[in-house]
Amino acid sequence: VIEIKNLHKSYARLEVLKGVDIAAPRGHVISLIGSSGSGKSTLLRCCNLLEDSQQGEILFKGEPVKWRGSSHGRRPADPAQVLRIRTNLSMVFQQFNLWSHLTILQNVMEAPCTVLGRDRAEVEASARAYLDKVGIGDKCDVYPAQLSGGQQQRAAIARALCMEPEALLFDEPTSALDPELEQEVVKVIKDLAAEGRTMIIVTHDMKLAADLSDHVVFLHQGLIEEEGPPERLFGNPQSERLRGFLSATH
Ligand code: ATP
Ligand code: MG
Repeated sequence: VIEIKNLHKSYARLEVLKGVDIAAPRGHVISLIGSSGSGKSTLLRCCNLLEDSQQGEILFKGEPVKWRGSSHGRRPADPAQVLRIRTNLSMVFQQFNLWSHLTILQNVMEAPCTVLGRDRAEVEASARAYLDKVGIGDKCDVYPAQLSGGQQQRAAIARALCMEPEALLFDEPTSALDPELEQEVVKVIKDLAAEGRTMIIVTHDMKLAADLSDHVVFLHQGLIEEEGPPERLFGNPQSERLRGFLSATH
């Protein structure tokens, strides 16, 4: 669904991505792991065209993103293309980013109605179904502040699903949660993986990455240090840095 080739990304003089390739084929779950500051969130944001970049290719279903600008900094050239890609790659953040002045149901319905212009009654039915699916169908009419962190994150996942995206992008979806609330969100993510959804997940939870990934990518200082199937990456890591990283996270 989404493919990135040789991506270079700097913030001013700080080079954060130094030529990274990553691909999420349809139905695959890709986990992105690495130390703090290695560029994981930046890479995920690049997939969703939330970041400008300097060099490299981004392809959505084989269609290359068109750029304008120079090698010092370029941005996507075609707003219609950006909208198409962004609405098809729904992002779930560490901080759930729900709108506090809208009810849970309104939060889930907002983008499909306003961005995609879909029929309200139809969107409402599917919003309720997704809230049921993540186990908070009874919370439609309350405001985010009235929910626990785990419930808020599940609402954010329902909101992402209601866009009917081609793929889901998760940036540390459980790291703001207490361990007992973390498990209820992990369960939802595992169910989505079992359904065959295409996902890229940035996570510090190595057990989650091992359990549900088809492919794991270990990022170190803006470069892919090692990648492969979870059994090999976790069972028989080759690079010294990955071994160090894994022993530090256990
Ligand atoms: P973490 O595990 O802590 O979330 P990460 O791997 O997601 O880390 P990024 O957030 O991608 O790391 O950041 C990579 C580097 O880019 C860091 O050195 C960070 O300070 C820098 N950086 C990130 N966002 C910006 C920004 N908007 N402006 C300038 N520098 C930034
Ligand atoms: Mg991050």
